[in-house]
Amino acid sequence: MTTSYDVIVIGSGAGGGTLVHRLAGSGKRVLLLERGDWLPREPENWDTAEVFVDGRYISPDTWYDDHGHPFQPQVHYFVGGATKLYGAALYRLRAEDFGELRHHDGVSPAWPISYGDLEPWYTQAEALYQVHGARGEDPTEPPASGDYPFPAVAHEPRIQQLADDLAAAGHHPFHAPCGVQLDEADPPYSTCVRCGRCDGFPCPLHAKSDADVLAVRPALTQPTVTLRTGARVVRLETDAAGRTVTGVVVETGDGTETLVADIVVVACGAANSAKLLLASASDAHPDGLANGSGQVGRNYMFHNSQAVLALSREPNPTVFQKTLGLNDFYLTGGGEGDDDYPLGNIQMVGKSQAEMYRGEKPMETRLAPTFALEDIAEHAVDFWLSTEDLPRPDNRVTLTAGGDVQLAYTPTNGTPARELYHKLRSMLGHLGMHPDHLVPRHAYLKTDIPVAAVAHQAGTCRFGTDPASSVLDVDCRAHEVDNLYVVDTSFFPSIGAVNPALTAMANALRVGDHLVERMG
Ligand SMILES: Cc1cc2nc3c(=O)[nH]c(=O)nc-3n(C[C@H](O)[C@H](O)[C@H](O)COP(=O)(O)OP(=O)(O)OC[C@H]3O[C@@H](n4cnc5c(N)ncnc54)[C@H](O)[C@@H]3O)c2cc1C
Ligand code: SF4
Repeated sequence: MTTSYDVIVIGSGAGGGTLVHRLAGSGKRVLLLERGDWLPREPENWDTAEVFVDGRYISPDTWYDDHGHPFQPQVHYFVGGATKLYGAALYRLRAEDFGELRHHDGVSPAWPISYGDLEPWYTQAEALYQVHGARGEDPTEPPASGDYPFPAVAHEPRIQQLADDLAAAGHHPFHAPCGVQLDEADPPYSTCVRCGRCDGFPCPLHAKSDADVLAVRPALTQPTVTLRTGARVVRLETDAAGRTVTGVVVETGDGTETLVADIVVVACGAANSAKLLLASASDAHPDGLANGSGQVGRNYMFHNSQAVLALSREPNPTVFQKTLGLNDFYLTGGGEGDDDYPLGNIQMVGKSQAEMYRGEKPMETRLAPTFALEDIAEHAVDFWLSTEDLPRPDNRVTLTAGGDVQLAYTPTNGTPARELYHKLRSMLGHLGMHPDHLVPRHAYLKTDIPVAAVAHQAGTCRFGTDPASSVLDVDCRAHEVDNLYVVDTSFFPSIGAVNPALTAMANALRVGDHLVERMG
């Protein structure tokens, strides 16, 4: 069996899986190491209680907060990584997100590349992940070199009414970009059946545009690409000078082995990539591999997000709800005049279901006696509000004495997050909703542990031009190690306020092209 490769990629999610897809056609020998297994296709994929309440697909990992308290992070170790469970809302960052943006709590830093630099790969990522959308509806939309590869997913009647009401009130609702393989023109041949269990659930039909189905599996049709599941990388070794990774130490069910490649790419997800680098400290890299700047693990971000439930006056029988977005407060809306600052993105989230709600009591205190639980489920309209979380050096991943992830995190931009909530709440009366009811997720969902909600984790190995303040260079290569790259959401210097996966995918394609050129 070959133990020497041209490239080893560690982690098969949005970053790693997409990169391997790009490398697959190069003829180079590529090994993809994934600690998890294939996500089983089973009836429980669509079982709300199993998935949402019992956390069937959440890893049994234990992480620790900054006080040393253990918690179970909502991470998913499967081929395809978090994309197996994601909502497949595949947004581009706004062009402004690549520059400095002044926020309520400080400045969101500029990226070392512009939106225009990344744009060609956004278009390629939208093609690879079969994004459905409509250009020209969202005033904050950045310029695009190509149309969406597929038409937008149509709103169901209640959401179309919401779009009409928003437009009538002078807003600019748009069709949200969705990664579902839905063919509304030819339903009998559509892979996606437009069900109500997409956001947060795996898709047993393989109709969701995840990194397993659309990147890893196609890549594996090439004889030069190998996947090993159940292969957890625990350490990277270097030569004595620390300039070259010389060994990838992997734990499998059969024990520990060391693999070798010309190029090593880390894509374990933002927290786990930092963990791997920190765990790979050596004499040449005493504070962790590639951590001469002290930046590895720092600037952890995860969006200041709120899921909120509004109550429609009319029943809301929508099945697939995640078709509408609103960016009217993305760049502006907070403060006044010259002190104006961004609030964030509003989008729909998968429709909540009765099984997800807590028992009667907490709901009663928020909504009853006016509404019974069944009424709530029938009339719920669920929104997802995201405010940009700013990078703070003290929001960071470190390792406990036992080598586990320790996550110190203080949220940023709480004021604009609250203002965004109140903006939406103030609009409800015009949107056919009960004006006094906009219930935050923690009041109605059975599961809610703020620090454990790591779905949108990013930062920890930011890229930049200055080795003193960044971990990676502009090609996502470690400043200090010639053959080491990081391509998951770790590289983000800022996170914006739209969902991060498409940006990780586009960047992975960009880095993939760089690697193909480098290897010749
Ligand atoms: C419920 C949910 C809903 C979401 N909805 C959206 C959405 O609608 N839109 C959006 O843009 N984003 C969404 N996200 C976020 C999105 O899925 C992530 O931003 C994206 O998958 C991150 O990609 P990544 O490559 O950084 O990490 P991941 O996709 O998590 O991949 C990391 C991979 O590395 C593997 N790994 C970790 N450690 C090791 C190791 N030591 N050795 C080997 N393998 C390892 C993991 O098993 C995993 O497969 C959602 C996430 C969740 C959980
Ligand atoms: S909506 Fe489509 S892609 Fe999503 S889970 Fe249902 S069938 Fe799968």
